[in-house]
Amino acid sequence: MARVAIVTGGTRGIGKAICESLRGDGMTVVANYAGNDAAARAFTDATGIPAYKWNVGDHEETLAGCAKVAEEVGPIDVVVNNAGITRDGTLLKMSYEDWTDVLRINLGGCFNMAKACFPHMRDQKWGRIINIGSINGQAGQYGQVNYAAAKSGIHGFTKALAQEGARFGVTVNAIAPGYIDTDMVAAVPENVLEKIVARIPVGRLGHAGEIARGVSFLASEDGGFITGSTLSINGGQHMY
Ligand code: NDP
Repeated sequence: MARVAIVTGGTRGIGKAICESLRGDGMTVVANYAGNDAAARAFTDATGIPAYKWNVGDHEETLAGCAKVAEEVGPIDVVVNNAGITRDGTLLKMSYEDWTDVLRINLGGCFNMAKACFPHMRDQKWGRIINIGSINGQAGQYGQVNYAAAKSGIHGFTKALAQEGARFGVTVNAIAPGYIDTDMVAAVPENVLEKIVARIPVGRLGHAGEIARGVSFLASEDGGFITGSTLSINGGQHMY
């Protein structure tokens, strides 16, 4: 039977490309999203992939949402924690809400999804959890103490949960994208973006599909010996 995969924030940008890639691998895929119903409808119309609305930053909503998916589609075998937001600003200008919202959604969402889906993976002795981090969680970024902290936290979360999942056949990995041509990056002012591209050795932004293929590999049977790792897909912008 086909594996069931869920991609949080799967209706747009990188998440949408991940949904399409996993479906191409033969999985049964569902997307989650936060509130942009028009984008979700357009996504489902174009792909045929169902989209479920809830806020991954809300613990109860996430447990209920995943239970609904399990009932309607099947128990979830593969979780891609891709949903993310930015609320940029320097520390002095950043509100407490901007700090907590970004931590709650970007990092708390990973915890909530894992709480909902790990028990089934443990019981069946197979599972894949793939968390989308960021180059800015590895290297830091001016004006993003909230986002960099949340993404850096994802990398620690990944390594800790990988140790818990290993004996149950559950792998837990992260992908750290560099700058990818999505709505999130379209919000960056053009003059700032030009300077960013100038610092990318391959000389361009990445494409969502290039992140998606990395997810597909980590989610595959062939990825079974990779756990607790972070795959950097960033055009050479940050090497360490
Ligand atoms: P987009 O802004 O294009 O899409 C974000 C998606 O996440 C949407 O589907 C959105 O739903 C969903 N989402 C946002 N908040 C929530 C929430 N609380 N609960 C459920 N879903 C939510 O993002 P990208 O495709 O650019 O980014 C995807 C991931 O990759 C993020 O984690 C981001 O931090 C990371 N990343 C992106 C980079 C880039 O260059 N683009 C670089 C490095 C990392 P809705 O449509 O309803 O709002």
